[in-house]
Amino acid sequence: MAPDAGNGEILVHAATEAQRKKYLEPLANGEIRSCFAMTEPEVSGSDPRLLQGTAELEGDEWVINAHKWFTTGAIGSSFALVIAVTDPDASPHERTSMFLVDTDNPGFEIVREVPVIGDHFTGGHCEVRFTNCRIPKDNIVGNRGEGFKLAQLRLGPGRITHAMRWLGVCHRSMDLMVDYALKRETRGRKLSEFQSIQNFIADSAAETQAARLMTLHAAWLMDQGDEARKEISLIKFYGANVLHNVIDRAIQVHGALGVTGDTPLEGFYREARTARLYDGPDEVHRMVVARTIIKAFQKGREVNV
Ligand SMILES: Cc1cc2nc3c(=O)[nH]c(=O)nc-3n(C[C@H](O)[C@H](O)[C@H](O)COP(=O)(O)OP(=O)(O)OC[C@H]3O[C@@H](n4cnc5c(N)ncnc54)[C@H](O)[C@@H]3O)c2cc1C
Repeated sequence: MAPDAGNGEILVHAATEAQRKKYLEPLANGEIRSCFAMTEPEVSGSDPRLLQGTAELEGDEWVINAHKWFTTGAIGSSFALVIAVTDPDASPHERTSMFLVDTDNPGFEIVREVPVIGDHFTGGHCEVRFTNCRIPKDNIVGNRGEGFKLAQLRLGPGRITHAMRWLGVCHRSMDLMVDYALKRETRGRKLSEFQSIQNFIADSAAETQAARLMTLHAAWLMDQGDEARKEISLIKFYGANVLHNVIDRAIQVHGALGVTGDTPLEGFYREARTARLYDGPDEVHRMVVARTIIKAFQKGREVNV
């Protein structure tokens, strides 16, 4: 699950041998959990160039001062991957670096678990503070100035695994929708015999299938070594909206039962709302897709989707 999968991805690519031994091995063995602290309440999370939290090198230690929130899974985690500004005057994408912080560090504090729509997520979505948090110099991940680059490394695979999980939820919602439509009768007919209910089923099948093929396409491109930024952004916003639509239709078919806790649909629905925000809101992913298409077109090529 997020955030461990994405964090593991970063450590596989950028951690030193010693860091792998201490952090990646127990993480991969499922012995510990981790969290990822990038988003700050004071500035737009959609624009990581605005980050304010700092890490300053003092002798053999980095001193981190930062205020973060939506650090998912922080409660009970063993370490945090933190992004902080190390070179404020560098180019926008080279201002930050990434660090490993043990959560038993006295400079690390969980301020609160932020109450969020959806069910409790293991470890919560937390507001955290790093106050004169001292860590060894060697706890930098990758090179100084690579924070943004490494965060991107995490977000690509992270977004596609979200899309995969959403497909599972779409399937489960469709199972529930069709099962109920076959059972429930009104005006002497099963719900499944009404055309508007059949439209719900057909539209959900079409959208789920499209999302599945878009997910597979992005994954296939990544397997070829392609960054697949456009395709990952496509499935991130399209998949999040398909997820919402399919659950919404399944709830509608269930009538009042759909909004009770007697089926999993109500929980799915609340959970789905956050999908259009985490790992970048829909608007940003649409922007990435559109910009990529426009840029390619300006180079004289045709629109290639
Ligand atoms: C459930 C959940 C879990 C999360 N887990 C983590 C985590 O583990 N670690 C972490 O660091 N962060 C995490 N986040 C934070 C998440 O990545 C940010 O919320 C997200 O990047 C958006 O940043 P923001 O909330 O500051 O919104 P803002 O950047 O302030 O954006 C607000 C709104 O402005 C609009 N907007 C923004 N940019 C554009 C644009 N370019 N064009 C048009 N409109 C735009 C959008 O409608 C957007 O929703 C999590 C968030 C949620 C909801």
